[in-house]
Amino acid sequence: MGVFSKAVRKLGPLGGYGFARALCKKEPRILMYHRFASPSVKGWASPEYFEQQVRYIKKNYNPFSLVGLMQYQRDNGKMPNHAVIITVDDGYRDFYEYAFPILKKYDVPATLFVTTGFIAQDLWLWPDKITWLLKQSTSIPELSLGNFFLSGGSLEGSSYDKYWQRIVDYSLSLPDQEKHQFLADLASLLGHDLPSRIPAEYAPLTLDELKEMQNSGIEIGGHTVTHPSLGRVTESQAYDEILGCRDYLNEHLGYHERTFCYPNGQPSDFQQFLPRIVREAGFLGAVTAFPDSKGARDPYLMRRHVSGDNSFQFYKAVSGVELLGHKLRGAVRLSGNFEEFAGTEQPTKSL
Ligand SMILES: [Zn+2]
Repeated sequence: MGVFSKAVRKLGPLGGYGFARALCKKEPRILMYHRFASPSVKGWASPEYFEQQVRYIKKNYNPFSLVGLMQYQRDNGKMPNHAVIITVDDGYRDFYEYAFPILKKYDVPATLFVTTGFIAQDLWLWPDKITWLLKQSTSIPELSLGNFFLSGGSLEGSSYDKYWQRIVDYSLSLPDQEKHQFLADLASLLGHDLPSRIPAEYAPLTLDELKEMQNSGIEIGGHTVTHPSLGRVTESQAYDEILGCRDYLNEHLGYHERTFCYPNGQPSDFQQFLPRIVREAGFLGAVTAFPDSKGARDPYLMRRHVSGDNSFQFYKAVSGVELLGHKLRGAVRLSGNFEEFAGTEQPTKSL
């Protein structure tokens, strides 16, 4: 537990969070959500819980969409005070069903990063394919696929999470084409044909829903065409993914200034040429999926804080306690090699 987390526990929530809020007045905090469900599922936000968070942000902070934040900074030469940005990744339909009505009710803007091939229903998101495959059985046989070995076992309870994570991690280590081949081979070894149509529980938003939300203050940002790890693609593939998603959004939703989100968003999903391509594509900024001491300092590598169903994590993220903890650890380290992405602590898994 970080020093500031300890301070919060000691001072009590109000004292600790208020202290952090004052210290972080000029530092926007960008929150990251993925999925919503009612009743709540582990790691996902329920509508009741999300409403509490949105109400709290509206009352105590200054909510922006990410593109709204970048426009404010461009127009005023500085960041707004107490800015908090709600961002949601991928483009699942549950956002429209559960989160959007709450954002509208409180008039709170947000940014939704969409994978455009998913919206076009040309593909479903590959981690969902792994989930779907594992959900077809209660156990998994011993598997050997290229360099990937898995001992067989039950898929009940926490073993399911371990198998899911092993397969996701291995997939992330592969170049994009090999990853798709691996998943196809995995499906055939497990004896299942992956449905070509996206199953309802993994369904994307429609263009009409995106248009309606865009007209109500939700920024629709870019998140590539096919959701590859951009750490495993060539420069020309990166251009296709980043410009392709920009062109799809502008063609179907009209030209708007937008921001971008790196899929998976961990240090290993990054290459040095990416911020330049994202900037050249006209996006006003871009976000990672982990927090560290740099916060929102680099507009094309702005850090994000996990949010979802854990209220302690939410208050730590929104108040700035988490950011201050990273700053303090960064300062104590006093290292000259605190380069971009180096020194990142315990990346949080996020797809
Ligand atoms: Zn994503």
